[in-house]
Amino acid sequence: MAAPLLTSLTESGGDRPDALTIAGRACSRADLLGAAAAMAARIAGAPVVAVRATPSLETVTAVVGALLAGVPVVPLPPDSGPAERDHILRDSGAALLLGGEEPVGGVEVLPVDPAERAAWTEPEPEPEATGLVLYTSGTTGAPKGVLISRRAVASCLDGLADAWAWTAEDTLVHGLPLFHVHGLVLGVLGALRTGSRLVHTGRPTPEAYAAAGGSLYFGVPTVWGRVAKDATAARALRGARLLVSGSAPLPAPVFRDLELLTGQRPVERYGMTETMITISARADGERRPGYVGTPLPGVRTRVVAEEGAEIGELEVCGPTLFAGYLNQPEATEAAYTADGWFRTGDIAAVEPDGWHRIVGRASTDMIKSGGYRIGAGEVENALLDHPAVREAAVVGAPHEDLGQEIVAYVVADGVGEKDLVDFVAGRLSVHKRPRKVRFLEALPRNAMGKPQKKLLPPV
Ligand code: ATP
Ligand code: MG
Repeated sequence: MAAPLLTSLTESGGDRPDALTIAGRACSRADLLGAAAAMAARIAGAPVVAVRATPSLETVTAVVGALLAGVPVVPLPPDSGPAERDHILRDSGAALLLGGEEPVGGVEVLPVDPAERAAWTEPEPEPEATGLVLYTSGTTGAPKGVLISRRAVASCLDGLADAWAWTAEDTLVHGLPLFHVHGLVLGVLGALRTGSRLVHTGRPTPEAYAAAGGSLYFGVPTVWGRVAKDATAARALRGARLLVSGSAPLPAPVFRDLELLTGQRPVERYGMTETMITISARADGERRPGYVGTPLPGVRTRVVAEEGAEIGELEVCGPTLFAGYLNQPEATEAAYTADGWFRTGDIAAVEPDGWHRIVGRASTDMIKSGGYRIGAGEVENALLDHPAVREAAVVGAPHEDLGQEIVAYVVADGVGEKDLVDFVAGRLSVHKRPRKVRFLEALPRNAMGKPQKKLLPPV
């Protein structure tokens, strides 16, 4: 059984003044606890609170305050459009918005002051209580509110501390948004639970990562893609202990470029809001491009494949799973199998030695063309192998004879459709080759760098 979520923060003794640095402002763990306690006293008893999740000490103070008080907390993307913001505020039923000054969507605002100090003596709420309500990225539909227990967070963080040998000796560096699992749960609560120092760079730029001097670095693949193109920044990461990529597939060419420039093979991990993080390569083990590693302690996975197929939908069971979607009993019920496994909606394959490969999403990354099932990721990786291709997204477009035809959207410098089709012909069998290539200035992506295939222009 995992220790209560905030144990390490509430029981930590002597402390450095820059235990947390967020966007240039530093504080000690005792300072954070004091300011969070003041916030907890003001919101105790509220049913749910939202936090304007800017990358700031205010956000961390508000989230930790809500966790101390046992009030479920909903991080709100600070620059979401009014539609997404109002959806999240209304759907979550948040009575208060912590941070900022202007009321939004009719919700009362409570300013956050990281300089306040108070003491908190209440015991932690029970482990099954909801700690956070995190909204999914909305890649496949409207963002869903995912109910996450305090125990699920603690289990996930303890599993990662074990997999990555993550301790109080580390300095974690990242610059990711603070309203998703990656930036907030792993990137802030993970540092608080392991006792490591945290440097949040405000924005995840190669220059900021290079200047931060950390041992452990988190990034999404777009961030690592930029680092791998910046020789100076990459060289500065040579002394780091571990580079971790997650939230979207790390293209094999980025893996190789990073290795070349930083001398480090990155660790890739897989998870989603509903399952937290469940699969990862280990710090003391092997790292393979194109693979996300093996399940964390206590997590079980299975691949439900059709007769004879090696890839199929990934299902997960274990202590890190969510407790349901808020206000969506039908979606919650549909997400689980009769024997209690969560259907991830992702397509995966497992090697005989237990290493997992994520092929893509069942809804958009599984193309059925001419009787074949083709994973979009395999075609995307073949395109990305071309030195002129910077980004690639492959989809199945409706086709009279084939059912779907393979269409590639690429961001590339100085290469034409014919050259690209010829190039992939050397790498992919005929039925996997794109029949059309469209050139774009940039792929549509969300704040986490996930490609938004539903926003691609029509073929
Ligand atoms: P929505 O559920 O609203 O459509 P979303 O699934 O993008 O949005 P998240 O929970 O933030 O919302 O993202 C989880 C998804 O991200 C996973 O289901 C998977 O498709 C993808 N993902 C995360 N890590 C990896 C990885 N290492 N490799 C491949 N895909 C990954
Ligand atoms: Mg999802």
